[in-house]
Amino acid sequence: MYQLTQSMMAALLPEICPLCKQLKQQHAESICHACWHELHLSRQVEGFIVNLASETTVWLSYDSAVVKACMHAIKFNHLEQLAFTLGRCFAHNVNKPAVDALVPVPLSWRRQYFRGFNQAEAIARGASSVWDLPVKHLIHRPKHGKAQAKLAMTARLQSSLDRYQCPEAVDGQRLLVMDDTATSGSTLNACAHTLWTSGASWVSVAALAHGA
Ligand SMILES: [Zn+2]
Repeated sequence: MYQLTQSMMAALLPEICPLCKQLKQQHAESICHACWHELHLSRQVEGFIVNLASETTVWLSYDSAVVKACMHAIKFNHLEQLAFTLGRCFAHNVNKPAVDALVPVPLSWRRQYFRGFNQAEAIARGASSVWDLPVKHLIHRPKHGKAQAKLAMTARLQSSLDRYQCPEAVDGQRLLVMDDTATSGSTLNACAHTLWTSGASWVSVAALAHGA
């Protein structure tokens, strides 16, 4: 219903950039040319550290206002197409990884239900269309985890690493875990941990944006 209303609105109204709310110029993709330019100026120069990853890759700095607006728009305005387009742009801007597949970070079932899509998965599909690599949903998030507050510190650290599951063996596979944003890196670290313990031979991680 939401998508139907969206497409009816799109047919009736001129296209507005979801980030700056200005009229979009022709030929721009999901956002306007000016916002695209801003994004390119927001490139993150340094990488970030994820202890369990063989390699980390990032494209944008989350400290930039336009990048923050972009990530917010994807999640809260349900802009799956924008996530896909940014995934394509990411893939054009960083080196193609030497991996067998791209693995999106899963959303909790509750978030996915209300958002209607997983932004990490849409970004991975965008990158996949440029790199010609398959997207594999290897990481699952069990519905019920133990409440973190009730656990002791060491148990909490272990529980944080064990919060995801990989139900199939991935023996010898080289995998790239993808997410929209990384802050502390603990989500990507937990995903990497799951894939290593399931037999992967290489696990690298990538985020569209990194920062506080
Ligand atoms: Zn704009």
